Amino acid sequence: MNDPSASVQHALAENVGRLGDRIAQAAKASGRPAEAVTLVAVTKYVPAAWARALVAAGCHELGESRPQELWSKAAALADLPVRWHFIGHMQRNKLRRTLPAIGLFHSVDSLRLLSALEEEAAAAGRQVPALLEVNISGDAGKGGFEPAEVEALVERLAEFAHVSTQGLMGMASLDRPAEEAERDFERLRMLRDRLVGRLPTGVEWPHLSMGMSGDFEAAIRQGATLVRIGSALVEGIATT
Ligand SMILES: *Cc1c(COP(=O)(O)O)cnc(C)c1O
Repeated sequence: MNDPSASVQHALAENVGRLGDRIAQAAKASGRPAEAVTLVAVTKYVPAAWARALVAAGCHELGESRPQELWSKAAALADLPVRWHFIGHMQRNKLRRTLPAIGLFHSVDSLRLLSALEEEAAAAGRQVPALLEVNISGDAGKGGFEPAEVEALVERLAEFAHVSTQGLMGMASLDRPAEEAERDFERLRMLRDRLVGRLPTGVEWPHLSMGMSGDFEAAIRQGATLVRIGSALVEGIATT
């Protein structure tokens, strides 16, 4: 059903290989090993059969920004060793159904969502790995905690015993130049660095999820450990 042709599979694998090289190079240039940065292959532009081809090309960390897409792709790829990353806005009424599929929840963007996540995870008897999304670009209309809200929240994180926060996630402004994206990423890293000393016992924040197709190298320079890449995976391939 909708299987990508052999030439599409080949092109996807080439894109994955090229991105892997660029990620490794950017990591090395910032004094880190290639393995310090994980490619999260965002599959929101492609059907499940293409996502399967991405797994065959070596991507085992896949990302989706819509609950329904995550449900259907996770079901379609249930036979594969995939960890799913949820990277979009979550409506609380979709949380219960989505939670079982989520390996890392990047986009916890409000106290209300964090509380709902705690409640659902406790009810399900599991610990959910999560990142707090911070509005680093200052764009009005962008989701996420304000930096000051994260500062105020840090010492309360122990109250959310079933949400295991592992760091921060952010998005640079899309309509400003790349140098400014790098400054947004730098602010997120500095916020993380400033807060790690205040984390409750047992909470560690090794992760910074930042960088997309157009700005991931800048994000890696600033310490990204997870880059979320969608359109560059399908670059040069007709998706219809
Ligand atoms: C779509 C999306 C991405 C991937 O964006 P590209 O520019 O296509 O690489 C990354 N992060 C989030 C939150 C997204 O919604």
